[in-house]
Amino acid sequence: MIAALSLLAYALMLALAGPRLLRASSWADRAPRLAIAAWQALTVTVLASLALAGAALTFPTVTVSRDLAGLLQACIMAIQEQYASPGGAAAGATGAVLALTILGRTLWCVGRGLAGMALERARHGRILDIVGRDNKQHGIVVLDSDEATVYCLPGRRRRTVVTTGALQALDEAQLAAVLAHEHAHLSERHDLILGFSRALAAAFPGIALFRLAAAETARLIELRADDAAAARSGRLTVAGALLAVASPGKTPLPSIALAAGGAGAAARVRRLIPPHNPLGRARTAAGSLAVAALLTLPVLLLGGPAAAAAGHNLCPGISTSASSPAA
Ligand SMILES: [Zn+2]
Repeated sequence: MIAALSLLAYALMLALAGPRLLRASSWADRAPRLAIAAWQALTVTVLASLALAGAALTFPTVTVSRDLAGLLQACIMAIQEQYASPGGAAAGATGAVLALTILGRTLWCVGRGLAGMALERARHGRILDIVGRDNKQHGIVVLDSDEATVYCLPGRRRRTVVTTGALQALDEAQLAAVLAHEHAHLSERHDLILGFSRALAAAFPGIALFRLAAAETARLIELRADDAAAARSGRLTVAGALLAVASPGKTPLPSIALAAGGAGAAARVRRLIPPHNPLGRARTAAGSLAVAALLTLPVLLLGGPAAAAAGHNLCPGISTSASSPAA
């Protein structure tokens, strides 16, 4: 029970305090890649903690020896003892519902989201095959349109699409900058990162953490792509290119597309104008360690004390007695 309560408290603390910490000051804007990883780790850790808490309530815990027969016998005895009492059975049922709900909703929504993305990619790809023209010089697909729009279509047949309006609005250096921006989206699979965040927000719409994570991830992947483009073309060139393609067009883009301009472009341009001020190596290393700690702590909460006490603990959760109730 202690392990389950600790995991629930950890998940609650992260869900409430995590977003405030991640959005505090401007460190995320200075290290968007780290911030993306932090948001992903935060959401995964909250889900894992809740699911593990459910598992810890459901399965009684035992400390066992290396003997497999002894392990099985201890597990069976502990399960019989827990589920013999109404309180133990209720706790076990609650834990099972919690764990199965989280796992089921997550798998279903992530799977449905990925399938929807694949369908939309294929549908839009067929449209591009019909109305787009390949430009071998730049490795792009050109669409006839007065709207200045640049976006990429991720996936196996990944393509970057540039309208004739954008080709007229951008000079050569700016075109190289927006193509570098789109290349970062494609090579770092920002579509999957964003798709995962959106799937979690859809799976658990009542939890603000997941809505915030999806919104922040969408913003941060644009900053990360801007930084990648700036490393190649210079920050002011990227800022100029963004201004040229910033106006949202009348034609809505498919949700799978990752555009260079669009919402948030004004703030991104303002960010690019001052000299680059990345997070220092020490702070980046500390942040990376914090991300790793976030992911590791639920496992330690569940298994650490038992492993330390018994040396070998092969059942879910920890206890110092083979017949103890759920821990
Ligand atoms: Zn973009």
